[in-house]
Amino acid sequence: MKHVISLVRILFLVLFIFLLSKGKMMFWFAIYGISLIAAIFFGRVYCGYACPMNTLMIPTEWLSKKMKLQTKESPKWLQSGKLPWIALVGSIVVMLFAKRVLHKDIPILLFWLFASILLTLRYKPAVFHNLICPFGAPQKVFGKFARFSTKVNKQTCIGCKLCEKACPTEAILVKSENKKADIETSLCLQCTSCQQVCPKDCINYSNKEISLMCES
Ligand code: SF4
Ligand code: SF4
Repeated sequence: MKHVISLVRILFLVLFIFLLSKGKMMFWFAIYGISLIAAIFFGRVYCGYACPMNTLMIPTEWLSKKMKLQTKESPKWLQSGKLPWIALVGSIVVMLFAKRVLHKDIPILLFWLFASILLTLRYKPAVFHNLICPFGAPQKVFGKFARFSTKVNKQTCIGCKLCEKACPTEAILVKSENKKADIETSLCLQCTSCQQVCPKDCINYSNKEISLMCES
């Protein structure tokens, strides 16, 4: 499963580089637009599988840990959560200005790609995913309503927190009151990293409504 996921990510990265080299980024933005609708049904699969930033942040985080560069802190000034929206509006304004006035296509995604790599050399991936990424902000809104999503079976969870450590977005947390893991759907990239480490096999991708019925 892990290798299939890596292969899918690499294929999307190759497609991204191809479209970028041909100056056809509108096709990529079309994929992104479709993925927003898909997020209502299947969650933030674009972020977990197609996004070139996420794909390159995974080896960057590995390198950061190896070189002992990563800090657990996240910048306090980012905590308001407004930056992704400001960055999104700013990116659209810059692209439109360049297109209409300068008659040039600005590869804005390339700028954010470098930013995500540089920031992940220092901070945990959750900082970029949750507090900076302009493309993640609308995905959070749509992904919150995902019909299918990664869920925890509370009856078998032993609260070991291995899933917490594996999650790139801090979407899964073990609650102190019941010592059971719970997932914030809007932050979940559906990446399966938590499933892969769970010793009780109690994390599954499933229909949200059926999971709720089973729990009640
Ligand atoms: S890894 Fe599995 S058992 Fe451990 S806290 Fe997470 S969901 Fe529960
Ligand atoms: S590790 Fe689990 S909770 Fe975290 S983003 Fe991936 S699938 Fe979602």
